[in-house]
Amino acid sequence: MIVGVLKEIKSQENRVCMTPAGVEVMKQHGHSVLVEASAGAGSGFSDADYQAAGAKVVAAPSEIYAQSDMVMHVKEPQPSEYAMVRPGQIVFTYFHFAADEKLTREFMKTGAVSIAYETVTGPQGGLPLLTPMSEVAGRMAAQEAAKYNERVHGGRGILLGGVTGVAPATVLVLGGGIVGTNAAMMAAGLGAKVYILDMNLDRLRYLSEIMPKNCTPLMSSPAMIRELAAQADAIIGAVLVVGAKAPKLITREMFKDMKPGCVLVDVAIDQGGCFETSRATTHSDPIYEVDGIIHYCVANMPGAVPITSTMALTNATLPYALQIADKGWKTACKENAGLKNGLNMVGDKITFKGVAEAFGLPY
Ligand code: NAD
Repeated sequence: MIVGVLKEIKSQENRVCMTPAGVEVMKQHGHSVLVEASAGAGSGFSDADYQAAGAKVVAAPSEIYAQSDMVMHVKEPQPSEYAMVRPGQIVFTYFHFAADEKLTREFMKTGAVSIAYETVTGPQGGLPLLTPMSEVAGRMAAQEAAKYNERVHGGRGILLGGVTGVAPATVLVLGGGIVGTNAAMMAAGLGAKVYILDMNLDRLRYLSEIMPKNCTPLMSSPAMIRELAAQADAIIGAVLVVGAKAPKLITREMFKDMKPGCVLVDVAIDQGGCFETSRATTHSDPIYEVDGIIHYCVANMPGAVPITSTMALTNATLPYALQIADKGWKTACKENAGLKNGLNMVGDKITFKGVAEAFGLPY
């Protein structure tokens, strides 16, 4: 198969969908790889790195779309690309169709086979192509909480870990899933006094086993959140209710009982945010203040660390890309039910229930 690696053109996106190491493995499996010039620049890979791994570097995305059996991206193709997509061509990337009706309808017209990273499921369930980005965002959340607690960044001027004879900061993590667990581990690793709240008892049991002594897992309830929010120097929002907007767990009303300068990091902002006062921000203008409480609500946190994010993402996507390239999408999906869950569209037919339901389209 000829596999095309496109350069990301969405603003502030520096990841790339395949590393030179991935190209080498594709070549070993007998496939040819075309890479758009400077596709890896934002993630620390040069065109020469890709050539050394056996890829052919081409100048324009039109060449990639014209020659490849499967094209790969990180983000959804942009409007300038729609006309280049060929009927029957496999497009493997994050699509998030259900959130974008225009993209869905435009892609139905292309006749492509669209396989979406975000709906691929793993052998034990879960979303293996989303998990790595949750890990990145969770770990970053603790770093951002530390940074915006510094006076030079507008914070109260408190070191998360404290020092000998001086108490550490208190960090409250709401949600003990992938993001929350990674955030709590990092904050605890820095020496903070950490509370992690979840509503799932099995998850709390697991967290009690794996978390260090300075991290306490507790059942989430409005009363517990109120009590701990009043003690916190930083609160990390990491809840997810599948298929629904995030619940507003911290309200503006509660700010009067909280420490002035407390830092709220709302990782769940991509699902609407779990603080009443959250609104999405960008890496170029990441924070704002409401009633003396600092808010960090960047919707694409992994974009700040493209080298790590690219490696984490491609470690997860490459095995699936190989299955598609080795067997063709039909056989690969027949043999791997999790990959089949990634199939969102074949020609003008929607093959993923959630997307069809979102826009009242036939399924
Ligand atoms: P997850 O499903 O692994 O974890 C969510 C957890 O929230 C679950 O354990 C669930 O039991 C818990 N929860 C639900 N309601 C709760 C409540 N009221 N109180 C306490 N806990 C509650 O999801 P995840 O992968 O950790 O993702 C969390 C959020 O982070 C999602 O909205 C995801 O889209 C988002 N995210 C954002 C970025 C970013 O850059 N901003 C990056 C990655 C993920």
